[in-house]
Amino acid sequence: MTVATSARKGASWLLEESDQASIFTPEKLSEEHRLMAQTVEEFVENEVMPNLDQLETKDWKLARTLVQRAGELGLLGISVPEQYGGLDLDKASALVVSERMARSASMGATYGAQANLTIIPLVLFGTDAQKAKYLPGLVSGEMVGAYCLSESGSGSDALAARTRATKQADGSWILNGEKMWITNGGFADVFIVFAQVDGDQFTAFIVERAFGVKSGNEEHKMGLHGSSTTPILLQEVKVPADNVLGDIGKGHKVALNTLNFGRFKLGAMCSGGCRDVIGEATKYAKQRKQFGHPISDFGAIKYKLGEMTARTYALESLMYRTAGLIDETVAAAGSHGGAAIAAALEEFAVEASIAKVMGSEVLDYVLDENVQIHGGNGFVKDYPAERYYRDARVNRIFEGTNEINRMLIPGMLIRRALKGEIGLIPAAKKLQDELLSPSGASLSTDEGLDADLKTVAAMKKVALMVLGTAMQTYGLKLTDEQEILCAAADILIDIYAAESAVLRAREAAARPDAALHEAAARTFVNDATQRVQAAAANALAAMAEGDTLRTLLAALRRVLKATPINTVALRRTLAEATVARDRYIVN
Ligand SMILES: Cc1cc2nc3c(=O)[nH]c(=O)nc-3n(C[C@H](O)[C@H](O)[C@H](O)COP(=O)(O)OP(=O)(O)OC[C@H]3O[C@@H](n4cnc5c(N)ncnc54)[C@H](O)[C@@H]3O)c2cc1C
Repeated sequence: MTVATSARKGASWLLEESDQASIFTPEKLSEEHRLMAQTVEEFVENEVMPNLDQLETKDWKLARTLVQRAGELGLLGISVPEQYGGLDLDKASALVVSERMARSASMGATYGAQANLTIIPLVLFGTDAQKAKYLPGLVSGEMVGAYCLSESGSGSDALAARTRATKQADGSWILNGEKMWITNGGFADVFIVFAQVDGDQFTAFIVERAFGVKSGNEEHKMGLHGSSTTPILLQEVKVPADNVLGDIGKGHKVALNTLNFGRFKLGAMCSGGCRDVIGEATKYAKQRKQFGHPISDFGAIKYKLGEMTARTYALESLMYRTAGLIDETVAAAGSHGGAAIAAALEEFAVEASIAKVMGSEVLDYVLDENVQIHGGNGFVKDYPAERYYRDARVNRIFEGTNEINRMLIPGMLIRRALKGEIGLIPAAKKLQDELLSPSGASLSTDEGLDADLKTVAAMKKVALMVLGTAMQTYGLKLTDEQEILCAAADILIDIYAAESAVLRAREAAARPDAALHEAAARTFVNDATQRVQAAAANALAAMAEGDTLRTLLAALRRVLKATPINTVALRRTLAEATVARDRYIVN
């Protein structure tokens, strides 16, 4: 991959300027990445999509066959060392595969539970013997995996699980408990199960169905009808001593690192889903005539296609940037071992949560507008728009709800700041001094993407203002102020997405489609600026009053001068290019 080799710190984009040449973008994909993308596209188009209705009858024999086909094509072993049957490719490859798997959300969920939630914890935390025993079967798809963290009483509060593991005289373990909502639960052979040892030592185990695991009934879900979701019943299940995954009492490390990767890949799947759906919405809008015109001629529909495109562009930009950062960090560690990958994933946990929240919300926006563009046909089952809409809703719920992830984004940043790992506190203090001294700040004469880069820099100052004020106002009690944390998360998400989009568009300046990159990035930055301004003003108004608030709001206005640009024209440009190409504008 052609990105800078020196490793950067997670969230350092908030405090530093980033160099456009150093970020990874979809335009920098190698021929190998593109071939991998094509393999997945062909698999989904030729083998999954024609079988989707059958899969939705809960034909798990078919699901197994498809998992096995994915294994034969190498898709289950992207992040697995070669000695265990994998391809050991970079995270950009993992991203590309997840993106392309998105067309069938049900197969995507089955795939994700296997490739991300079962294989990854084994790669990151398994002993050599555990890897040798389980990975080859999981990578080939002969064995199906599932990840059993949630219980009826503990979803978000996953570490409060009640499943118990009791040590036996011979060193083995007896597991008792019930897991809920387990993807692949109806037909998996091997389970990563989290249980409490001695009441409170949260620990991960590798449990085979043959040890005595039972599946409950299939859940009747809103969507993902072609993916199995069941309770998993563990009654006196005997697990050998060798099947503890990671250390006793360190199950949270297994769970959190797996989720870091899972969140990143969920973001990728959502980004891929957006691209596909923009193509479908466009084709429909071109052929559907009302008032004597294709509906794609109407400004209101152009607005939708333009906005769907701009948000997808920003999401895609941050996804590729994050993949590049993780790969760079793994490369700088000089090792592809589980510990190096786990450390890199932990370093970019903030970015993974951003990917998950923004991915799932942009996808839901795009799918909702797709239903709207389809009109009545969007509400009936004859068209896929209805299925896509239902299937996607769960993305905001699993892999940590979006509320939990929103809390994590500023929460992790502040924790790292307090430990001195990132210079957020000195930067916030410096900004405070800067804002208190009257400056003769002149109006910027920059235009286009140069101006946008300045706007992003101003948004970063706003984030520091909000985080600094919050830390000063609440101290350690800030964790109780969820509305403020959520506002800060929204600001941080917009900053990372906006900067990623602008840097990518600048990097694409010499390409024939540079104007489209620019239109997408500029539209996103324009709207993100307005959102950041509103979120910051509301958060500050909740934390201060009187003269202090007036001073803060005046500083906010001075820092972030949001002059709207003509996004009507930019969205029309994006929509018309989409209509001309019958697909998402770039790549
Ligand atoms: C289709 C499907 C597949 C799934 N697959 C798996 C799987 O394979 N393995 C697995 O282990 N689990 C799986 N899950 C479970 C999923 O991870 C949980 O549903 C999810 O973590 C949320 O937990 P919960 O449902 O208990 O909701 P709750 O935790 O009860 O949350 C309910 C609401 O309260 C909010 N909330 C909770 N706590 C807080 C807080 N501290 N502050 C603010 N708001 C809060 C939440 O954000 C949410 O809006 C799956 C779920 C579904 C629906």
